[in-house]
Amino acid sequence: MVMTRATPRDGRLSGGKTPASPTPARPSREESRSSAAEVEQRVGAVTDPEIPTLSIGDLGIVRGVEADESAGAVRVRITPTYSGCPAMEVIARDIVDAAADAGWDATVEIVHSPPWTTDWLTERGRAALAELDIAPPGPRSTGASGPVPVTIGRAPHTESSVAVVCPRCGSTDTELIARFGTTACKALHRCRACGDPFDEFKAV
Ligand SMILES: [Zn+2]
Repeated sequence: MVMTRATPRDGRLSGGKTPASPTPARPSREESRSSAAEVEQRVGAVTDPEIPTLSIGDLGIVRGVEADESAGAVRVRITPTYSGCPAMEVIARDIVDAAADAGWDATVEIVHSPPWTTDWLTERGRAALAELDIAPPGPRSTGASGPVPVTIGRAPHTESSVAVVCPRCGSTDTELIARFGTTACKALHRCRACGDPFDEFKAV
């Protein structure tokens, strides 16, 4: 079973800043339980621990939210973004926390199929990336969905014909510095026009 039942507010992974969330003493959970629509909205508003302005709804990883009002239980299915990104455990716990704040017990299920694609990012999600000077992913490389060419070492950015646009100045005169930027999900580029390095959220 790929069922993760995370415990609220414990065992958080280190790294990433945890937004301060006060823990008010709650009245009886039935009394304080919000509507199914509200818990669904709160779950979608959970943010990516690596990109705090990007909600998981806008990231496009929420595959389903099923609320059982009589039980006060909500089942949330999410799809991992990039394998190797440790964010999913943190996100699962944050979902449980967000649901608990609304008076619901959440169960988070990780769904691997179909795999997440950057095409599921919403326009708002792309805007959130641009706001942080992170180049939003371009279209996935077209053609056969075969193995992705892997380049070892410093190599020109030849695997994609799509120029990565500098999020600061808009120039397309950019070069790939490292296939893995600040996290495995991002590639590090440098703009030749303004000289600034920047992250690209890799398209998959
Ligand atoms: Zn630039």
